[in-house]
Amino acid sequence: MRESSSTYASRIRRFRLPRLCIAVVGADAPTMVERAESLVRDNPFLELRLDYLSQPLAALPKLKNFLELHPEATFIATCRRAVNGGKFKGSVANQIAILRKAADSGFQLVDLELQSVEALKATELHDLSDRVGLIISHHNFKATKNIDRQFADMNKYPADFYKLVSTATSLHDNVVMMRLLEENSAKHEMVGLCMGEQGIISRVLGVRAGSVFTFGSAAKGEETAPGQVLAGELRDVYRIEMVDQATQVYGVVGDPISHSLSPVMMNAAFRRETVNAVYLALHAKSLKDLLACVNDIPIRGLSITMPYKQEILSELENTDPLTRQIGACNTVVRAADGKLYGFNTDVAGIIVPLEQRMSLAGVRVLIVGAGGVARAAAFGLKSKGAEVFLTNRTAEKGQTLARQAKVKYMKRPEVAKQQFDVMINATPVGMGNTKQSPLEEKELNTKYVFDLVYSPAETRLVKMARAKNIQVIPGLEMFVQQGARQFEIWTGKPSPVAEIAYVVTKALERQALVEVDEEEKPAPKKAAKPAVKPAAKKAIVKKAAKTASSRKK
Ligand code: NAP
Repeated sequence: MRESSSTYASRIRRFRLPRLCIAVVGADAPTMVERAESLVRDNPFLELRLDYLSQPLAALPKLKNFLELHPEATFIATCRRAVNGGKFKGSVANQIAILRKAADSGFQLVDLELQSVEALKATELHDLSDRVGLIISHHNFKATKNIDRQFADMNKYPADFYKLVSTATSLHDNVVMMRLLEENSAKHEMVGLCMGEQGIISRVLGVRAGSVFTFGSAAKGEETAPGQVLAGELRDVYRIEMVDQATQVYGVVGDPISHSLSPVMMNAAFRRETVNAVYLALHAKSLKDLLACVNDIPIRGLSITMPYKQEILSELENTDPLTRQIGACNTVVRAADGKLYGFNTDVAGIIVPLEQRMSLAGVRVLIVGAGGVARAAAFGLKSKGAEVFLTNRTAEKGQTLARQAKVKYMKRPEVAKQQFDVMINATPVGMGNTKQSPLEEKELNTKYVFDLVYSPAETRLVKMARAKNIQVIPGLEMFVQQGARQFEIWTGKPSPVAEIAYVVTKALERQALVEVDEEEKPAPKKAAKPAVKPAAKKAIVKKAAKTASSRKK
C-alpha cells in the first residue's frame, strides 16, 4: 500500500481484508440496508452500489446508521457513472459529492473510475483520498485489451488500490489478466478480474495471482457485472479464502460447461482430502484456446468433456492402451515437464457400478448408442469378459464400433425378442425431460437398467424400468465413479466416494428445483399460468429427497 497521508489507509491493509467482497444493490436505503444486514455477518466486506439507489445522497444518513452498527466490517462505496458502465446519471462533480459524503458517513473505501479521476483537479483528488481509502478502477465491458496501458494510466495517480476489470472473450484473456497481477502485485495493491462467462476462472485465479480481493454476488439476479459468481459458491465450492500461490489448479474443459457438476464434486473431494487445489469450469471455445493457457495457468489436471474428448488425443504425449483403443480421453494429467498424458475414466464409471452388483464375466449386456461413452462401455465390458451387444440409431456407426470392439451388433427389432442381464442407455435420449426414452417398455427384458443420463434423476426409462420391477443403476453413479478415478489419478489418494456422491446428489436436487422455479415463471406477456403446479413441485422435492436417501452409502 502506498505511503498515504490518509488516516483511513491503516484500516484497510490487505491482511485485514477478507478475500471476498460482496456487491450489494437496492433501489432505496431500507432495501439496501436489509440486504447488507443479511450478508455482513458471514462476509464482513461489502460493496454498496450507491449508483443503484434512486437517490444516493438522501440514502446516506440511513447507510451511516447501518455502518455504525458494524464497525468490524469494511465497506466500499461505489457510485459508478452510466457512461462507465454503472447506473449513476449525474456529473462527475455530483459523483464526487456523493463519495465525499459516503466517506464522511463511515465508508472506508470509495471506488472511482479512472475516467472520473482524470476529470478532477489534483486538489480535488487529494481532498477525497485524504478522507477515505481510494480504489481507482477501470472497466472494459467488451474485451481484454491494453490492460498494461490502462494500469500505467491509473498508476499516475496515487491510490490505495488499483482495480482493473476487463471482459474475457477467450480463456487466454484470463492469462493476460493474471500476468498483469503477477507483475505488479508486489509493488501495488491490485485487484483484477475478467468479466463474462469465459472470465469466471479469473475470479478465483486472480486471487492466486495477487489480486487482494475479488467480488461475488449476493444472490442470483443480483449480479453487478457479467459472469459474477455467487459469493456463497466462491466461499463454499472454491474456498476462495484458502487460495494462494501454492494452490494447484485443475479444471473441466468443454463447450458449453456452465451446467457441469464436476466443480462441485471435485472441489468437495479436494476439501475432504485437504489437498491445496482448486477445480474450475474452463469454457474453451476451441482446444487451441485451452492449450494456449495450460502452461500459463498452470494446470495440473483436466477433465475433458464434450466436444473435445477425441480432439484432445492428438495433443497428448501418451495415453494408456485402453484409451487409445477407445479413441476418446476424458482425463489429462500435466506432468512436471509440462507434457500431457491421457486416460479414460469413463470405463471405470461404467464398470465399477456394475461390478458392485455382479461379476461381469459372461453377463449379457446391451449398449444403446455408439458415441464416445458407448465406446468406453463396449471396450471396457468386453475386457471384463461380458457378452456385449450393441444397437444404434445409425446402424452403420453401430456396426463399425461393434466390429472394432469385437462385440455383436443387434438390429433394433431383435432387441424386444432377447433377454439381457443389463441394458445401458449411452444416448442423450431422456436428458432434460421426463417424456423421452431410448427404449420402449416391451424391449425392457432385463434384470438391470443403467441409464447414463443423470439429469433428471428419474428419467422416463428409469420410471418404466421401476414399473417393471427392473433394478435401476442411476447415471449419477457413473458420474461419481469416473470422477473418483480422476481424483485418484491426479492425487494418488483414494477418493472420498461417499462424500462426493452426497454433494453431487444435493447439487442435482438444487438444479432440479431451479429448473422447476424457472418453469414456474410466467411467460413474458401471456397471462401467468404456472407450468408446474405447487403440488407438482412438492412431489419433485419429495422424490429428490427419496433419491438422495437411497444413494447414501
Ligand atoms: P455422443 O458421442 O454424442 O453419442 C451419442 C449417441 O447417442 C450416438 O450413438 C447417437 O446416435 C445416439 N443418439 C443421439 N440422439 C439420439 C436419438 N434421438 N435417438 C437415438 N439415438 C440417439 O455422446 P456421448 O459422449 O457418448 O454421451 C452420450 C450420453 O451419455 C450423454 O448425452 C450423457 O447423457 C451420457 N453421459 C453420462 C455420463 C455420466 O457420467 N453419467 C458421462 C458422459 C455421458 P447416432 O450415431 O445415430 O447419431
